[in-house]
Amino acid sequence: MNRKRVLVTGGSGFLGSHLCEQLLSKGREVICVDNFFTGRKESILHLMDNPYFEILRHDVTFPLYVEVDEIYNLACPASPIHYQHDPVQTTKTSVHGAINMLGLAKRIKAKIFQASTSEVYGDPEVHPQTESYWGNVNPIGLRSCYDEGKRCAETLFFDYNRQHNLRIKVGRIFNTYGPRMAMDDGRVVSNFVVQALRGEDITVYGKGEQTRSFCYVDDLVTGIIRFMEDTPDEFTGPMNLGNPGEFTILELAENVIDLVGSKSKIVFKDLPSDDPMQRKPDISLAKKAMGWEPTVPLRQGLEKTIEYFDGYLKSIEDE
Ligand code: NAD
Ligand code: UDP
Ligand code: UDP
Repeated sequence: MNRKRVLVTGGSGFLGSHLCEQLLSKGREVICVDNFFTGRKESILHLMDNPYFEILRHDVTFPLYVEVDEIYNLACPASPIHYQHDPVQTTKTSVHGAINMLGLAKRIKAKIFQASTSEVYGDPEVHPQTESYWGNVNPIGLRSCYDEGKRCAETLFFDYNRQHNLRIKVGRIFNTYGPRMAMDDGRVVSNFVVQALRGEDITVYGKGEQTRSFCYVDDLVTGIIRFMEDTPDEFTGPMNLGNPGEFTILELAENVIDLVGSKSKIVFKDLPSDDPMQRKPDISLAKKAMGWEPTVPLRQGLEKTIEYFDGYLKSIEDE
């Protein structure tokens, strides 16, 4: 059988591990490239027995020579605490990483997907966000290493497309959550779920009035693969991928406390700088282009995430 060979950068991260898993289950051969900055071997341990799965420890800011049919470029820390830990490296990962993966794609004539982000819209003044909105990003703030790095990566993708006829797919991913987020990831869903399960205070930043739209990981990964495999080459995006259900952070905290049945109390902490006030994807393009929309509502996805973290916390307590 002529299996399609697929490269997934950032493949041991939260989204990457789910993507590798879904691609293998569709019969693809998968090469996972990761420098294990925020990724963990335990997230892909269950794939290691699969003869069509391979791991390369590699930093995408350095050139990479492999032969594949398709590339999914996900390498980049996604949680604010991790991408702000070494901001220069974050920008390098987005920009040099994109240049190297695009150079690779150009040489081997591979189709390439870029994991872009809703952060390209910054603190949006247009709501919900459509792909035609150019965004409101602070170019010199604490989040800009990530936001501007991802914006520059989009520029590179579109210039390689125009200049070298490269087949590109740019997906703007909105907040996604689910099993296998790292316990110390620092993003809001994993923080709240772990805090609630441990009976610790739930740390709401600011007044908790800011909104986010949360997509369950299986829905998101299905959307990414459909975009890559089932849309025509002329359709490059950028395309929003996310769940349009919008919640305040306070509502998220209340839902998590309720579903866990936790005695945790909500405490209010300082709002991080440049924290966007609202975020909700307009997904009409994804619906029209590939008939895709999320199917898992927030409470159902949270239940699965809580079940995962409950098992995970018990397993590390037993060690
Ligand atoms: P994650 O931090 O769990 O995964 C990122 C992976 O990239 C990790 O395995 C990390 O070790 C690896 N990595 C980082 N720098 C690297 C480098 N220089 N070379 C090789 N590997 C490197 O984050 P995630 O949530 O899985 O996000 C994956 C991608 O999706 C990121 O590009 C992120 O920007 C994008 N994204 C995610 C979300 C979300 O809500 N999860 C939203 C928007 C965009
Ligand atoms: N590159 C890579 N793997 C390849 C081909 C290229 O990592 O198989 C890197 C290469 O090191 C270069 C980058 O991709 O820095 C951009 O390549 P491109 O051919 O677009 O530009 P050039 O080599 O002319 O700088
Ligand atoms: N947040 C919070 N408590 C936490 C972690 C995050 O209130 O323990 C807030 C954060 O300030 C932001 C929202 O939750 O408004 C989403 O944060 P996250 O880091 O998950 O992603 P972002 O969308 O900001 O990149």
